[in-house]
Amino acid sequence: MAAGVETTFAAQTIMIQTDILIIGAGPCGLFTVFEAGLLKLKCHLIDALPQAGGQCAEIYPKKPIFDIPAYPEILAGDLVDRLMEQAAPFKPGFTLGERAETIVKDDEDQFIVTTNRGTVHRAPIIAIAGGLGCFEPRKPPVDRLEEYEDRGVEYIIKDPEFYRGKKVVISGGGDSALDWTNFLADGVASEVTLVHRRDGFRGHPDSVQKVLDLAGEGKIRLLTNGEVVGVDGEEHLEGLTIKHKTEGDIRLETDHWVPLFGLSPKLGPIADWNLNISKNAIEVDTFDYSTNVDGVYAIGDINTYPGKLKLILCGFHEATLMVQSAFKRIYPDKNLVLKYTTVNGVNGF
Ligand SMILES: Cc1cc2nc3c(=O)[nH]c(=O)nc-3n(C[C@H](O)[C@H](O)[C@H](O)COP(=O)(O)OP(=O)(O)OC[C@H]3O[C@@H](n4cnc5c(N)ncnc54)[C@H](O)[C@@H]3O)c2cc1C
Repeated sequence: MAAGVETTFAAQTIMIQTDILIIGAGPCGLFTVFEAGLLKLKCHLIDALPQAGGQCAEIYPKKPIFDIPAYPEILAGDLVDRLMEQAAPFKPGFTLGERAETIVKDDEDQFIVTTNRGTVHRAPIIAIAGGLGCFEPRKPPVDRLEEYEDRGVEYIIKDPEFYRGKKVVISGGGDSALDWTNFLADGVASEVTLVHRRDGFRGHPDSVQKVLDLAGEGKIRLLTNGEVVGVDGEEHLEGLTIKHKTEGDIRLETDHWVPLFGLSPKLGPIADWNLNISKNAIEVDTFDYSTNVDGVYAIGDINTYPGKLKLILCGFHEATLMVQSAFKRIYPDKNLVLKYTTVNGVNGF
């Protein structure tokens, strides 16, 4: 049994089995799929965000990066696309929009990782590539908000189809709020209202203009200088109270409220996985980026060791060494010989 991991898991019926279960689909998690694939190891990734790419996709997709080897300049979003393309031959599985919550071991020395939505994964190796941790939504300070979470209140739009034919109120003044308002107003939701506490918006000028145009054409309702202060409804959200600077309290009937006030990173459940943590990062052995729990590795921004640099290219190196060690742990009797891709090519699954 690995140190620190309980062995209390009873057999489950539905679970995703893989060789390396990667927690975090940021650039380092994605590159792990490629390096593991070269060794014929299959990967599955879990990410709390609804899309792959980690910080590159969530925080700065349109910013150019200048220190990726052989790319003098590449947009962060394009780097994610290239990594997905590079990983594709190895057919990685994804559990997106779910947070890896608990880890236990079964009686066959495999890790069982369950998400906050109850999806169960099983693997002999865990690679934590959790970056800065989970991006938690910034929640507005509204009484009884928790009662309506997943009953009409959502903080991330995972699938716009969920809102088809529904009345939706979006709050926020940044790109997410503007982009989703524009998207849902385009024949998806039956009614869209955008509520923002200021007059001006922080988002891209094109998106702001589109929102103003839609409001001018009567296709959405735009309430600036107002903020949601109350939620109500029986089983499901039915209405919101909006405090408006000049008009006082306004009640809006709605099926959904999506406050999009940004995401803040937190180490999250991984902090309770009995790993040695130092200053919010997981301590690893630089020989193979293994943690204090046998079979659990940590790569990328989430790990720490003397001289650590939180750079993408360092995470790529860590992923490459880590999968070699993982292979030897899974197949202790097999000989692993380094083969150049120029000689062997890339033989997908
Ligand atoms: C504005 C900005 C500019 C930057 N510029 C550069 C640059 O020029 N060059 C460079 O090399 N680096 C740059 N960086 C840093 C770079 O983005 C990080 O080093 C890189 O993203 C780390 O990759 P990662 O895969 O380790 O983690 P991340 O990209 O942080 O991805 C981790 C993923 O793990 C997920 N996760 C965490 N915990 C869980 C859990 N329990 N369950 C499910 N999912 C979980 C998160 O949702 C996240 O998607 C920049 C960062 C920022 C913010």
